[in-house]
Amino acid sequence: MPQAGLQVRPAYSVYRLIWSGLDILFPPVCGGCGKRGYRWCPECARSLRLLSENICSTCGEPVEHARICLRCQQKNPAYSALRSYAEFGGPLREALHHLKYKHDIGLGEALSEMLIELYARLAWRIDLIVPVPLSQGRLKERGYNQAALLARPLALAINARYASSALARTRNTPSQVGLSVEERQENVSGAFTADRKQVWARDILLVDDTVTTGSTVNACAEALLAAGSGKVYALSLARAVLKAKNENDRQPNRVSIGPRSV
Ligand SMILES: [Zn+2]
Ligand SMILES: [Zn+2]
Repeated sequence: MPQAGLQVRPAYSVYRLIWSGLDILFPPVCGGCGKRGYRWCPECARSLRLLSENICSTCGEPVEHARICLRCQQKNPAYSALRSYAEFGGPLREALHHLKYKHDIGLGEALSEMLIELYARLAWRIDLIVPVPLSQGRLKERGYNQAALLARPLALAINARYASSALARTRNTPSQVGLSVEERQENVSGAFTADRKQVWARDILLVDDTVTTGSTVNACAEALLAAGSGKVYALSLARAVLKAKNENDRQPNRVSIGPRSV
């Protein structure tokens, strides 16, 4: 359950109760390890490498010394802050694969508890929750947006408006796998358009399942700000942590959670 510090809405408690009832009627298996009786089991939860300390105060990337990472020092992102719950890998990778390809709404509900817990630790004030959108083509092909499976229960829990149509991906972008930070930025730049009527003067929380360099979130934030939004914040469940001795040399790892990559 979400940690102390966040008053969850009664509607969310009812929603949770319905899911608990469904779990008794149809015992689930853990999306991370396959253990029966859980949608996301305690062992998988304990195995995560959390990203709560020694992170850049803007982009949330792990840093060794500075408060703000070199990349954010060189160019401030369009968003105000980005935070991720845990490092991408292990059972979380399995769970995100399920979320992405099996349309497992129950797993999305279970995993969203981590986002609710993360949000409760932050002093952000937001009006609107917007999932990072897929292109129309990909949405048709998959039938749903996996980021929405996390964003909806979060919106319900924190009593924020959910607006899946506030942002659209108007250009289908090639896979980001293997691209450098700069190439990723270029790849997604201008790929999104925001609906001025929905976002005008609203502080927005973007939700995604996984981030790598934050380029996609940044392109979303640029579109929202261009349409007149207030501040833009972002949360992701997982983050592919860039590995390098020197922060300047950091390059994205390969992140693949199935036939398609992020
Ligand atoms: Zn498990
Ligand atoms: Zn940073």
